[in-house]
Amino acid sequence: MAGGQDLSNNGKHLDSPATSPLPRRHVPKPLDAASPARGAGRPGARAGCDAELIDRLIEVIERDIVPLTREGVRQGNKIFGAAMLRKSDLSTILAATNRETENPLWHGEVNAIKTYYEMVNADESKRVDPKDVIFLATHEPCPLCASAITWGGYDNFYYVFSHEDSRDAFQIGHDLKLLKEVFKHEPGGYARENAYWTAYNIVDLVDNCAEDTKAAFTKRLDALRQTYAEMSEVYQANKGEAKNIPLK
Ligand SMILES: [Zn+2]
Repeated sequence: MAGGQDLSNNGKHLDSPATSPLPRRHVPKPLDAASPARGAGRPGARAGCDAELIDRLIEVIERDIVPLTREGVRQGNKIFGAAMLRKSDLSTILAATNRETENPLWHGEVNAIKTYYEMVNADESKRVDPKDVIFLATHEPCPLCASAITWGGYDNFYYVFSHEDSRDAFQIGHDLKLLKEVFKHEPGGYARENAYWTAYNIVDLVDNCAEDTKAAFTKRLDALRQTYAEMSEVYQANKGEAKNIPLK
């Protein structure tokens, strides 16, 4: 199975995974009405600080997704990656990266779902109910991937980099343009909480943490931003040669 890793013995635990992807033990930090936080109004801003969950989500990007994406980018693919974790113990089910050089629909999230079904179709014992999965995307899912997450039956996704980051920091503005052109949505106009799933920006979750914890996570997110900027340069330098990618 390309890109898959089973790390189920890392022994980490979430409270009440069956009812919510977020533990209840943390009290959300009140937002300052006079000076709204970055994520004011978004689900992540109301989700409190679960340091164990945030640590694990960042760790999965650092350890499981980035190595796959480094290789994928070298082969001409975009920088977007994804992973699935078990809500029960935060272990990694699999990680995946963008494979648009094979097929323009193999975005990181879609490739994760594709890889998952290749895995369970080969080995039924690896099946996990989608409702027991935390879906992690490095970048805020595009309309294709948000729809794939919906059709896949997942009730959540978490991401670090926003649509605006994809456009401004990584020179890939298709998410925002597609939302506006096809769905007539201005940036941020889609429903981050809906009948299917709730979308959490990990930066919003970090903003809920106490200062020392927030500083430590912010340092790791800054390092990730640098890592993705470097991978983006490789993609941008080589994208002209990618015959199978109409939207570069
Ligand atoms: Zn996508």
